[in-house]
Amino acid sequence: MSNLNPKWFEGKKALVLGVANERSLAWSIAQHLHQGGAQLAFTFLGDSLERRVRPLAESLQADLILPCNVTDDAQLDTLFSQIKDKWGSLDYLIHSVAFANKEDLEGRFVTTSREGFRMALDVSAYSLIATAQRAEPLMEGHEASIITLTYYGAKKVVPNYNIMGVAKAALEASVRYLAYDLGPKKIRVNAISAGPVKTLAAAGIRNFKTMLASSQEKNPLHENISGDDVGALAAFLCSPLGKHITGSTLYVDSGAHIMGG
Ligand code: NAD
Repeated sequence: MSNLNPKWFEGKKALVLGVANERSLAWSIAQHLHQGGAQLAFTFLGDSLERRVRPLAESLQADLILPCNVTDDAQLDTLFSQIKDKWGSLDYLIHSVAFANKEDLEGRFVTTSREGFRMALDVSAYSLIATAQRAEPLMEGHEASIITLTYYGAKKVVPNYNIMGVAKAALEASVRYLAYDLGPKKIRVNAISAGPVKTLAAAGIRNFKTMLASSQEKNPLHENISGDDVGALAAFLCSPLGKHITGSTLYVDSGAHIMGG
């Protein structure tokens, strides 16, 4: 695993949302923060994922491992009050959460239902706002950093990405507005736009294998990225090196986003 400085995150506290298993991008980010000395709290969605997340979190000596469905305000309130009770403050919030119904991740975008739209935008975009507003009082005065995960389908049409592209566009715009609101409190908000990586969420996108192959063929480096690349960029953004970066979407995609047709 690549690393910046083994001591940068000592005494820092990071809440990581979105680990489902060892392939999760959130897991790579957590490993980088842990390697830099951060104390960690993890959330999981539902009992079946708890069985996967708990041993991973324990392997990094997590202080807290808590349930959280980001569509449930009561669970979010409980999560942040437990963070407050345990730590009193928060330095980093890693938001690595997205969901859309499978039928909305294939075929024609024009058939997206109202409920499918609501679900995708609620879980994948509004949840950043819902978590940022609860993190704000804990982060104030801590030179804190909020990071979310996005994809190029927010900017251009990527067949089958469909409703998730619209959700990611809302997410990226939310990053800018949150950065404006929270900047005076020295809380930075950024998005990492990652190239395709084979994870549980990615498996829900029709023809994901084709996306992987096509990205490798067309990007300037002719290499796909790994979760470790995402973890390294997140660590950079949380570190003092990123202290004047906010409101940005940073690409780690082997340059895929610069290509035309
Ligand atoms: P993943 O399946 O490992 O992570 C997605 C997480 O979202 C899971 O932990 C899942 O439990 C969580 N989640 C879904 N609905 C939730 C809810 N209602 N409440 C709480 N948590 C919920 O997959 P991943 O690829 O690591 O995805 C993480 C983020 O990275 C997502 O935002 C995804 O869109 C983004 N991303 C992924 C790729 C990729 O190719 N894998 C590329 C760019 C961006």
